[in-house]
Amino acid sequence: MIVMKFGGTSVEDAAAMRQVIEIVRSKRARQPIVVASAMAKITDTLIRSAQLAREGQEHQAQKLLTEVVALRHRQAATQLVVSEPRCRALQESLDQYIVELRTFIHGLAILGELSPRSLDAIVSYGERLSTLILTTAMQEQNLDAQLLDARQFIITDDRFTKATPSLELSDPRARSLVLPLLERDAIPVTQGFIGATPQGVTTTLGRGGSDYSAAIIGALLGAEAIEIWTDVDGILTTDPKLVPQARLLESVTFQEASELAYFGAKVLHPSTLLPAVDKNIPVYVYNTKNPKSPGTRITMRESPTPGALKAIAYKKGITVINIYSTRMLLAHGFLKAIFEIFDRFETSVDLLATSEVSVSLTIDETRRLDRIVSELQKFSTVTVEHERAIICLVGEGMKYTPGIAARAFGAIRDININMISQGASEINISFIIREADVPTVLERLHREFFEP
Ligand code: ADP
Ligand code: ASP
Ligand code: MG
Repeated sequence: MIVMKFGGTSVEDAAAMRQVIEIVRSKRARQPIVVASAMAKITDTLIRSAQLAREGQEHQAQKLLTEVVALRHRQAATQLVVSEPRCRALQESLDQYIVELRTFIHGLAILGELSPRSLDAIVSYGERLSTLILTTAMQEQNLDAQLLDARQFIITDDRFTKATPSLELSDPRARSLVLPLLERDAIPVTQGFIGATPQGVTTTLGRGGSDYSAAIIGALLGAEAIEIWTDVDGILTTDPKLVPQARLLESVTFQEASELAYFGAKVLHPSTLLPAVDKNIPVYVYNTKNPKSPGTRITMRESPTPGALKAIAYKKGITVINIYSTRMLLAHGFLKAIFEIFDRFETSVDLLATSEVSVSLTIDETRRLDRIVSELQKFSTVTVEHERAIICLVGEGMKYTPGIAARAFGAIRDININMISQGASEINISFIIREADVPTVLERLHREFFEP
């Protein structure tokens, strides 16, 4: 059995879904379980609509539902499903979902508030709508597809908008719901990204979380492989949207992939690999629009190629906090006091660099920044720099190859760099630049390392 996860662009319209159906059909013999995201941009639209409602702009919010959400799903459904009574049943279910969404949005507008819990309830419709259409379209194409609501078997904690699934709680439910379908040769289709608390309240796993869902489902059911189907040929040397010369990597190790994901390569959600590594399940990344391409295989370990810098990731929207110790000069307990504050405000730190008199660190979540800074100021002087980006060079071979950093910094010597940090695993070198310098830096580093 394999898990096949299709991202937003892979299900963005009727043509894309047709492609998905053919890909799934071609893997029929391997007992696929299909996990799908919301149609591209639908999650963003639902979030925007909820925010508008909270701000009292209900008219605008409802308009987005009509002109984007309802329209795109109805169009896809109309093109994919024509036979009766299937067509009518599908349109009725879609209408029902849209009515529910409208009611939620109206409620938010009346209350003028939007809790993370309400937001999860609303965004879950993206995946629920897309999978309803995809499943019905598969049936229309003579595949025995069966829709399973992920909220019945992906059981999570109640950290709304970034919930974590519990393997223990999910395991028996996943088995009892999914395995009987596989036994009768049906193709289970379910939503990525969404789950529910043990009490049945809808949660989501964080933006891009469908990859994570696929990995959890694969781990729960002991899949032979997890396939992440997306809109690029696999994992490339860098983001092809910024550097069109980026090249496909035939394989990367789990370690490399997780560093890349953690430092911004959106092609994989950072948590995706954990369940897969634990159960030793290989992960592949493939292109829905180019299924013949060999894709990228994520492997346990490969013999490291000396000199190999594998790929370059970047993460924008980074804030740097510089903390100067006025009294303690990095005395015992200083770092502990700092981390205790970040912990208390549930804000995770990405990079850390220390000097004799200061500590610099980066965060990408600034909701609680003001409170963090005022706590820090009780015992230090603090400066904050916004609109920064992390650049991260990744490769297992780097630890055997001196001089990579020198080459990298040589290639961008006229650019302002700070907070250089090397991960303990020695397979990454990260540093901070201004967000505006990202395109230039990526282009130059890519040329230096990957373009002959
Ligand atoms: P999906 O909707 O299928 O989950 P995403 O947009 O989340 O797709 O992720 C795929 C995107 O990741 C690509 O379109 C590409 O722009 C981006 N990306 C960033 N870094 C890389 C990389 N190193 N290799 C491949 N894609 C990358
Ligand atoms: N639809 C969700 C998002 O846009 C989850 C995903 O696409 O993986 O974040
Ligand atoms: Mg994604």
